[in-house]
Amino acid sequence: MTKIVSRFAPSPTGFLHIGGARTALFSWLLARAAGGEFRLRIEDTDRERSTQEATDAIIDSMKWLGLEHDGEVVFQSTRADRHNEVIDTLIENGHAYYCQCSKEDVDAMREKAMKEGRKPKYDGTCRDKGLTSGVVRLKAPLEGFTGYVDMVKGPINVENTEMDDMILRRSDGTPTYNLAVVVDDHDMGVNTVLRGDDHVNNTPRQILIYKAMGWDVPRFGHVPMILGPDKKKLSKRHGALSVMEYEKMGYLPEAVCNYLARLGWSHGDQELFTMDEMVELFSTDNLGRSPSVFDLTKFEWVNGQYMQKADPERLADMLMDFLARQDADAAAKADRATIAKAVPLLQQRAKSLVDMLEQAGPFIADAAQLDYDEKAVAKFLNEETKPLLEEIAARMDALEEFSEQTLEDLHRQFLEDKDIKFKVIAQPIRVALTGRTQSPGLFETMTALGREQTLARIRRALAL
Ligand code: GLU
Repeated sequence: MTKIVSRFAPSPTGFLHIGGARTALFSWLLARAAGGEFRLRIEDTDRERSTQEATDAIIDSMKWLGLEHDGEVVFQSTRADRHNEVIDTLIENGHAYYCQCSKEDVDAMREKAMKEGRKPKYDGTCRDKGLTSGVVRLKAPLEGFTGYVDMVKGPINVENTEMDDMILRRSDGTPTYNLAVVVDDHDMGVNTVLRGDDHVNNTPRQILIYKAMGWDVPRFGHVPMILGPDKKKLSKRHGALSVMEYEKMGYLPEAVCNYLARLGWSHGDQELFTMDEMVELFSTDNLGRSPSVFDLTKFEWVNGQYMQKADPERLADMLMDFLARQDADAAAKADRATIAKAVPLLQQRAKSLVDMLEQAGPFIADAAQLDYDEKAVAKFLNEETKPLLEEIAARMDALEEFSEQTLEDLHRQFLEDKDIKFKVIAQPIRVALTGRTQSPGLFETMTALGREQTLARIRRALAL
């Protein structure tokens, strides 16, 4: 079997959005699942709408998602000479011709065809004139049909009479989109094209170009689009659209890939897949034919599942990065080791890194900088609880070993001596340690903070 070479060919006119990223992921999986190659081509021929910023954003997003490509990135705009060379070959071998019909001529032809109940198209006026200048058109076959078996949609056949003698080179000398795509895919060795189904009408036209050049036609597949929960085309109002927005929201890249894969691909009713599993299981046979619906709640759930399973050391690094982006000063002062100890206490509940960073607040600030919630302080640190906190702090100070077990024993003894219930001191201690009324378990929190910070916080709270 020949090696699969797939590709992703975005136009750099905006950021990499969810739909594009999913197409990229499917193409990547297709190649990786078959031990093939995955190429990246930036289709930047529309000089007005293409920007360097968008190109960088696409490349960064792919890197972040882990969709590494093989070989050099190809920039379509650098290939105009090659595109024109192919157009000249098509003219030489009789598959293309010059046309000098004006726009008005063509409009009139179309109108006439419509009036006569035919499909509006160029009528071939210049086909056999042997002109040597003007726009260049492909000589489309006048009978038969052009068909292929779409990897997603199944067999697709188009009557050749339905197809126009499409323009390959415009009057300003620039090659057209369909021509450029075919030449680039061919030259890059691409034999498997998976793309959005907004391109499904281009495919028979592109096949005509392959055939005219005598080139092997790739396999094509077109994935249906993604809809919002209201079944309308996915747009900004349904949630964040660009991949990097999810990065900023603190999503893990593998969770994004997992969620995107499930938008249109399935393997039984399994929801969670590692990248390796996806690579192992992916096949275009299980790509859905109908549009998938974007569901932010489910996306959040998938991310939460990945947060729970992620390596705490990696999450600690990611938290430090996030913090540095938010507040460089706080990041410089934060103790990474304490944060790393806090991660396992937080990761069961955090929905995202941003969420986790918020919950990790008390482990980031040191005693002197900790923010105390005024209401919590007023409610729990009062004349009744202060002496209890003072005494328990003194006992902790005297502990030989400062561990969850010794702290638990110490508290049990304290409650017994004072004949009080844990709830009398639990919230006061929590507020003293974290400034808040919600935190992970107290003994775990104390252990993560360490004795020095634990005592310093109780002392600061007592002084409030
Ligand atoms: N550049 C096209 C787009 O961004 C994709 C072309 C293709 O995949 O063939 O929609």
